[in-house]
Amino acid sequence: MTAWFDTEEMLIDGVWRRGGATLPVEDPSTGQTIGRIARGTAGDIDAAVTAAQAALDGPWGRMTALERGRILARMGQMVLARVDDLALLEATDVGKPLTQARADAVALARYLEFYGGAADKVHGTTIPYLDGYTVYTLRQPHGVTGHIVPWNYPMQIIGRSVGAALAMGNAGVLKPAEEACLTALAFARIAQEAGLPAGALNVVPGLGDEAGAALTAHPGVHHISFTGSVATGVRVQQAAATNVVPVTLELGGKSPQLVFDDADLEEALPFLVNAGIQNAGQTCSAASRILVHADIHDAVVSRMAARYRDLRVGPAQEDLDLGPLISARQREIVEGFLARAGDLTVAAEGQVAGTGGHFVAPTLLTGATGDHPLARAEIFGPVQVVIPFTSEEEAVAIANGTDYGLVAGVWTRDGARQMRLARDLRAGQVFLNNYGAGGGVELPFGGVGKSGHGREKGFEALYGFSQLKTVAAHHG
Ligand code: NAD
Repeated sequence: MTAWFDTEEMLIDGVWRRGGATLPVEDPSTGQTIGRIARGTAGDIDAAVTAAQAALDGPWGRMTALERGRILARMGQMVLARVDDLALLEATDVGKPLTQARADAVALARYLEFYGGAADKVHGTTIPYLDGYTVYTLRQPHGVTGHIVPWNYPMQIIGRSVGAALAMGNAGVLKPAEEACLTALAFARIAQEAGLPAGALNVVPGLGDEAGAALTAHPGVHHISFTGSVATGVRVQQAAATNVVPVTLELGGKSPQLVFDDADLEEALPFLVNAGIQNAGQTCSAASRILVHADIHDAVVSRMAARYRDLRVGPAQEDLDLGPLISARQREIVEGFLARAGDLTVAAEGQVAGTGGHFVAPTLLTGATGDHPLARAEIFGPVQVVIPFTSEEEAVAIANGTDYGLVAGVWTRDGARQMRLARDLRAGQVFLNNYGAGGGVELPFGGVGKSGHGREKGFEALYGFSQLKTVAAHHG
């Protein structure tokens, strides 16, 4: 499938090795099996954790922050040099259109540049204390970090999680999603070529209930970063609690964009649709709810509907607006939601141009109230629900009315309202007159409520992937 590397190998202690059983790799654009990956076991995870600890006890643990940063920066440059190869791998494995896959590869490089540059800029402080004391803090790595990654944005999530952890001097074990492992393996190749010492990053593909569960329950792991569904996040946190290990959970969302009657609609419209259908809606921060002031509801719907009717869905390699969903199972889930949308109105659908893949037509639904099941559940497909409101208070109540709180967007020219909503919306990120801010590697990201806890991205991630030690010296 790829001449670049053997996809059936995993990286443990700097050595590429095959395991026992394997799992199929499917191209979701065709439904065809195109290769195989290793099905890592609890034994492989144990070997990877041991290797990571050995790296911490060896040259990696003694490396200066400057040297770590240089390796990360080199990794970033090498990712940029292979952007097209990485994009093709991701498009084939995940089903995202090539342009999006390429953007993800560039984002991976950007994370590595950012965290490479930041590695030697995070440090402790001195604290004025009693006479005769000098007190300071040391910011130190947790140790062995476990990284469990979903299939929707493998490269971006590896960049933000593994990049920040390595910058702080942790040694990682990465368990990519069984549906999409190829760019994780390619990334590990690049890390090795860039000079990352053996054991600093180990990659063990495998099933969630096998390799994933083994990683989260392993007593040698000191921090777990998990991105995925709420149900699995709960299991991960329970497993981590057994070993009293901190976790960062980046879970789902049902993020709203609020459109007031003074909004600049020309500006807003591309964001309203694109933030909902990007990656075929399989985005944790997808703007899956569009809350619109009743006075402009019909105008907004008719313009969104026109855009929907132009959307084309087809094989990732053809680089249309949307690719397929990741799997037949995901398509069944999304179609199940649509089948339960009977009392809502289908305002518009896009056009499916491909056959054989897990394609779903993007669907714009209207006629919902904030408490409709489709306005509350994360669908994780190309489906947006439009909900009218008549006052600012009502808009905030609807926006805050789900179990989630990941991202919110507000479109209004009223500066005071912008400030009120930035304060009152229950979300980890609020965007005023934009949505997503171009990906925002530098911007802290994470959820409240069932969207999770902890923050990744930006400098904030470096604090999460390290711990503070207070040193108090009494010298008289
Ligand atoms: P998932 O929870 O099924 O799988 C995520 C990862 O967890 C995979 O690597 C899987 O192998 C692993 N896993 C499964 N069971 C496990 C277990 N018992 N122990 C340890 N690991 C286990 O989620 P998914 O279907 O792959 O991804 C979709 C979900 O992820 C959506 O809900 C989406 O919103 C969320 N997501 C959130 C973010 C974010 O940053 N907040 C980003 C992307 C996706």
